[in-house]
Amino acid sequence: LANRMFHPEDTVVDVNGIKVGGNKIVMIAGPCSVEGENQICRIAQQVKDAGACMLRGGAYKPRTSPYAFQGMGTKGILALDKARKLTGLPTVSELMAVEHLDEFVEHVDVIQIGARNMQNFDLLKAVGRTKKPILLKRGLANTIQEWIMAAEYIMSEGNPNVIFCERGIRTFEPYTRNTLDLSVVPIIKERTHLPIIIDPSHAAGDWKLIESLSLAAIAAGADGLIIEVHDDPANAWSDGSQSLKPEKYAALVEKGKLIAKVI
Ligand code: PEP
Ligand code: MN
Repeated sequence: LANRMFHPEDTVVDVNGIKVGGNKIVMIAGPCSVEGENQICRIAQQVKDAGACMLRGGAYKPRTSPYAFQGMGTKGILALDKARKLTGLPTVSELMAVEHLDEFVEHVDVIQIGARNMQNFDLLKAVGRTKKPILLKRGLANTIQEWIMAAEYIMSEGNPNVIFCERGIRTFEPYTRNTLDLSVVPIIKERTHLPIIIDPSHAAGDWKLIESLSLAAIAAGADGLIIEVHDDPANAWSDGSQSLKPEKYAALVEKGKLIAKVI
């Protein structure tokens, strides 16, 4: 179903009127984690002012350590919904378990399947039975073929609204958190008709690399960027080291506009 051979035209995924996979770059931004209603509403306004057209914020966090902050759960989803209503920005948030699917269908615009769940086939099938746009991140160490088959799991249940998201893969290199594989952009576009966006934040692990990787992703033909932005990165509850401050994000959006049209 994802194969370009049987579907020559590009698929455009509509998120409340925002077209992902059209001829404009979709800029998604926000904190790694929702940390409270004030925090997410404040940052939502900041990223909107900086030029973002969608808001990210995790409420269920796939942390390496069980002792690390696990996300605000339902309270976080409701706070994100407040920020959406306040700013009009559609939202992206990660779903980790089928039991929470109903609250995502009700309160979240784009359901993210995180890297660690790319091959959680029951979760893929469950979101496939909705009509929600799905942001399908590439697994930490998955091949492109495995990633495309994960999209097939969603599509074969009846949901055509899949957006790929490259977020870096594990290699031998410790200078970066992961290695951003931009070759997937032309490969996914050749093999499939689905949109693909880039997450430079989880690839880099370091805010200083975000601008270069983002501009490279746009030049490579990506349909959008999802970037972690926090107004107090040093005190962020997760992923502060890779989070851009709103003013740095605004500058990046402006540079992106020199390369391609941005929504
Ligand atoms: C995230 O988006 O905050 C996240 C945990 O992403 P990934 O699944 O790519 O690690
Ligand atoms: Mn994160």
